[in-house]
Amino acid sequence: MIRRLLARLIPGRKTHAPRIYGPADHPVRSDQVSRGARMVTEKLHEAGFRAFVVGGAVRDLLLGQTPKDFDIATDATPEQVKPLFRRAYVIGRRFRLVHVHMGAEVLEVSTFRAAQTGDDATDEHGRLLSDNVYGTQEGDAARRDFTINALYFDPQSEEIWDYVGGVTDIRARRLKLIGAPVTRFREDPVRMLRAVRLAAKGGLAIDPKTAAPIPKLASLIQNVPPARLFDEMQKLLLSGHATETLASLRAHGLSHGLLPLLDVILEQPLGTKFIEVALAGTDTRVREGRPVSPAFLFATLLWHEVLQQWNGAKARGDKPIPALFDAMDRVLGTQAERIAIPRRFEATIKEIWALQPRFEQRAGSRPFRLLEHERFRAAYDFLALRAESGEVAQDLADWWTRFQDAGEAERTAMLRPDEAPKKGRRSRGRGRKRRAEAGGLDGAPPADSGEPG
Ligand code: ATP
Ligand code: MG
Repeated sequence: MIRRLLARLIPGRKTHAPRIYGPADHPVRSDQVSRGARMVTEKLHEAGFRAFVVGGAVRDLLLGQTPKDFDIATDATPEQVKPLFRRAYVIGRRFRLVHVHMGAEVLEVSTFRAAQTGDDATDEHGRLLSDNVYGTQEGDAARRDFTINALYFDPQSEEIWDYVGGVTDIRARRLKLIGAPVTRFREDPVRMLRAVRLAAKGGLAIDPKTAAPIPKLASLIQNVPPARLFDEMQKLLLSGHATETLASLRAHGLSHGLLPLLDVILEQPLGTKFIEVALAGTDTRVREGRPVSPAFLFATLLWHEVLQQWNGAKARGDKPIPALFDAMDRVLGTQAERIAIPRRFEATIKEIWALQPRFEQRAGSRPFRLLEHERFRAAYDFLALRAESGEVAQDLADWWTRFQDAGEAERTAMLRPDEAPKKGRRSRGRGRKRRAEAGGLDGAPPADSGEPG
């Protein structure tokens, strides 16, 4: 009653009934959602609440893809949700939601949130600073980004509730923002990146009205906090469609000078081929369901930066190995800060880099020790990329491919005594050498060993 009155008084606040698609009208079945999602929604229904699987999972199922996780939306408040489950934890300070644990699964249960009214707090570019008021299901649909992300699936009735025309858009394979594109992109510029990523991943065309304002608004991305941009870039790079997505970002004017990480990827004078090969390899792995390491990927993205500085230092006569460690520190210190690579990746990135010169030393016991290094596999994969992109000889990578699988006798026969460190240059660093080789990360050859290629 009051709501209807308000709807009449405030323009744009009208309530609409959703279009409800029954099980005969769409292909999603309840056995396609996880057991946890079925149990959580059922429990909420029994307690008299509405509860749906929402967002990316419904989109992915309608597109015939496998969802990563299942988010639940409900009209119950967190305080009403929590007592219904044995292991449920209210999290978040600004906007509270509930994590419900069901076996190994964690379900995120959020209360319907209100759509923006137009007078919410924004920064001077229109970016929303908060989004945290409970609301109706219709409002909850309207505050989401794209129509195909605003669909609600009820696992018990197998109905899909659609307030924004998302089912029609999925059928037309169209990605469309809800509401006025310029306003919605200003509220949250990350939506521009999401548009490009979700379109590439789902094989969708971006609706012309959604795409049109992107080039003009692209620079707003610079106001987004770096950590959030990093998260989005990581999703993009690990989507299994990185190569296409990057091409599309470029086509929509979203590459140059906006995202430091993208500049690193797209504007490399030297490393283009290397990064192309790396991204194509990552895409293949993701699509085949094999694991990929973000640290490995970031090591590839920054490698040519390191290489450039390292080569510069060597040309000035610096000793190769200290020069490499120096270059690594400098690149991670400056470049990684702009890109906001989380610290937890740094150790692995450095190890992968630091092991590279050791592949050039195939004499004595060194190759055997390298084989046993904890990061050998990642470092070897990295070497293979360097070879494929033409940076080092393919022979070298092939040698290591063979060496790994060879028997003891063949391994010994494969050794290259000519690559042993030169005598007479190793007097000063012996103590250091022992220490370095005993340690993990510092396992690069000592400062005075032979020149790595
Ligand atoms: P993926 O998980 O593949 O990145 P997703 O759509 O599930 O895709 P999430 O970040 O998990 O992305 O978000 C879940 C849901 O929250 C989305 O489907 C969408 O409805 C909503 N959402 C996410 N980001 C935004 C945003 N920037 N603006 C408005 N709604 C958003
Ligand atoms: Mg998701």
